[in-house]
Amino acid sequence: MTQSSEPRRVALVTGASRGIGRSIALRLARDGRHVVLAARSEGPLNDLKHQIEQSGGAASVAVIDVSDMKALAASVDRVAADHGRLDILVNNAGITKDNLALRMSDEDWDAVITTNLSSAFVAIRAAARPMMKNRFGRIVNIASTSGVVGNAGQANYAAAKAGLLGLTKTIARELGGKGITANVVAPGFIETDMTHNLPQQVKDQLQGMLAVKRLGTPEDIAAAVAYVTSDEAGYLTGQTIVVDGGMTMC
Ligand code: NDP
Repeated sequence: MTQSSEPRRVALVTGASRGIGRSIALRLARDGRHVVLAARSEGPLNDLKHQIEQSGGAASVAVIDVSDMKALAASVDRVAADHGRLDILVNNAGITKDNLALRMSDEDWDAVITTNLSSAFVAIRAAARPMMKNRFGRIVNIASTSGVVGNAGQANYAAAKAGLLGLTKTIARELGGKGITANVVAPGFIETDMTHNLPQQVKDQLQGMLAVKRLGTPEDIAAAVAYVTSDEAGYLTGQTIVVDGGMTMC
């Protein structure tokens, strides 16, 4: 935990109710941040807040549907107003609606682009004001190796995640002079609810292809986010940090 008398940095983590977002929230809390836990399901967020507080950390809950752009922008404004600051934004909430491109419906295309890409833009636009005011900010967008190298069956998802790379680099250029960094963390295959239903045989095959010979954990991603959002990472911006056990190496 942070022992200094400086106010705790405030971090908003979307998709914190489970999986990678939950691990990111736990890690940032352990590192002394006040973590605002955001997702649609209030119960798991309250449980996580309790867990963080039990270990001496600080957290609060914001029930947010990131696909509702007006509500999302208002929620980000409220977080900044309630705490008087917003230092770290982790756009992690994401969904998949996989299908081959030729069979993909307009609805599934739009849903994934809205939740995985447009939400990040709206949250960044709202978070940038309080960050600029304090001349400090750390923005991390959680993309995917699918957005870097593509993935059959994921046209919507890969396009949204690739969009995050362009968005991040642009934000890095626009806000770099204000003390704000923006980076992407792109996970490979991480064991969460999102990947739970893949057949064991596919998981075994995949594992054999990875340089480190194991699937990723949410904690692997949280460790990268912890560094990228740290005070000492001020010279790291516009980058895509691929955390994939050596799957793509590109
Ligand atoms: P999970 O499905 O386990 O969790 C997704 C999280 O996003 C949940 O907390 C969910 O909360 C939240 N969420 C989904 N839709 C919304 C919404 N409309 N509004 C607010 N919150 C929402 O996914 P992972 O933890 O596996 O994935 C996290 C991120 O990492 C995603 O962006 C994903 O694309 C990315 N990723 C994951 C990989 C993997 O192998 N698992 C690989 C590469 C990238 P709730 O349902 O309560 O709203």
